[in-house]
Amino acid sequence: MIIVMKREATEAMVQHAAEKVEKLGLKAHVIVGTERTVIAAIGDKREEMRESLETVAGVSKVVPILAPYKVASREVKPEPTLVKAGSLEVGNGMCGVIAGPCSVEDEEQIVKSAKAVKAAGATALRGGAFKPRTSPYSFQGLKEDGLKMLATAREETGLAVVTEVVASEDVELVAKYADVLQIGARNMQNYRLLEAVGRVDRAVLLKRGPSASIDELLLAAEYILNEGNSRVMLCERGIRTFESHTRFTLPLATVTYLHQKTHLPVVIDPSHGTGHASLVPDMCVAAVAIGADGIIVEVHPEPDEAMSDGYQSLDLPTFAATMQRCRAVANAVGLKCGADV
Ligand code: PEP
Ligand code: MN
Repeated sequence: MIIVMKREATEAMVQHAAEKVEKLGLKAHVIVGTERTVIAAIGDKREEMRESLETVAGVSKVVPILAPYKVASREVKPEPTLVKAGSLEVGNGMCGVIAGPCSVEDEEQIVKSAKAVKAAGATALRGGAFKPRTSPYSFQGLKEDGLKMLATAREETGLAVVTEVVASEDVELVAKYADVLQIGARNMQNYRLLEAVGRVDRAVLLKRGPSASIDELLLAAEYILNEGNSRVMLCERGIRTFESHTRFTLPLATVTYLHQKTHLPVVIDPSHGTGHASLVPDMCVAAVAIGADGIIVEVHPEPDEAMSDGYQSLDLPTFAATMQRCRAVANAVGLKCGADV
């Protein structure tokens, strides 16, 4: 249920209503909007609960949440959510730009990448230290050493660090170094991991599973939100189809659809979405044109030498040229893309 507070309701009234919700055995999520505050009451509800909440001081009305996902739903919060993490801002008119290599390989590689993507207008640095690889024999990442290199790159550039966490027992360690915890496509339905990132004070980039429906993506986000972490970004990174020309199929309509269903920001990953560097620049520009709240792009100083995903990574000049096009398109559609350069 959504408990819609009156415009003039005081903070004490909101607090009191939230306590009342908890006393009824439901979980209360207070969501402060620009227009008014609502409380999402989650749990097994009964009709008499609605009646008793309707008479609480400051309450305007109590309405059911129709969507299966609750806190993520636009019904609960009609205005878009802006997620901030260090230098990164994603949502509500701001298209954040997360760029960097697939994997952290050594300090020189990550620092060089960070400086170049920042100069081109990126607002965050990506780089995997824990890599979820299809084969156990592929490079698995530098783990904590890689995280330290990412922290060095942040010190040198001021860019927020986005990096993947693959297991709940690693969340504390990765959170020590990262500004944003990335949940990879293969882990979208690892519910214990989602709960674990829901309990830390770090923004989360949740990638869509290659075979997951959009409702499943939103319900996965709900696991994180339900633990109290409201800084969740959704990421479309392509789905598995019969098409074999691209690594995955990148459905850009996901952005528009998700904007209708959720207040959470939506990030597009054209690198994994296409799997070919030659297709990435146009997909970045297209994502900005349709109002994506962010793009995450694999960029490498020497793509041919990359230890993972080199074939879909942009070199530094191509990324800089792509950013120029993205800024021009953002300007035309009334958005801001990345940082001014
Ligand atoms: C990545 O970002 O390098 C990655 C492994 O992405 P995904 O989980 O979308 O495959
Ligand atoms: Mn990759």
